[in-house]
Amino acid sequence: MWISHLDRLPTRSRLISWGMQISPLCCLCSSATETRDHLFMFCGFTMPIWTSALARLRLPPAQFQSWDALMSWTRVSSQTAPSMLRKLVTQSIIYATWKQRNNALHNSLFFPPASIFKSIDREIINSINARRHRKNFQKLMSFWIS
Ligand SMILES: [Zn+2]
Repeated sequence: MWISHLDRLPTRSRLISWGMQISPLCCLCSSATETRDHLFMFCGFTMPIWTSALARLRLPPAQFQSWDALMSWTRVSSQTAPSMLRKLVTQSIIYATWKQRNNALHNSLFFPPASIFKSIDREIINSINARRHRKNFQKLMSFWIS
């Protein structure tokens, strides 16, 4: 559900396709056209956040080549990074990136990627805590904070 919703986010490239006369440049890096894929995967602001998250999952730094590749990655389970945790991480990164993009655009508020990652970290810990009585979530905390 959350994935299909992302196609409808009013990124600048979509606003322009609807006829708005605005700059196409990304609100976070100002160096590429702001599309969903750029914002959440390729932006120079977002990439260090992915690198920090992958390190916490004991996975090597990676660059997702496409949206489909990212979605496939969330469905894979490995010893240190079960699918459910990958989905939680992806969802948190996307949410925090969109929030920061709107903060930059509407409030001229800029936080560095490292502090955004700290809020993502807290968000993931809270999400796991809230679901700790579900069987599938019991092990996730040890994967994330160890
Ligand atoms: Zn960007």
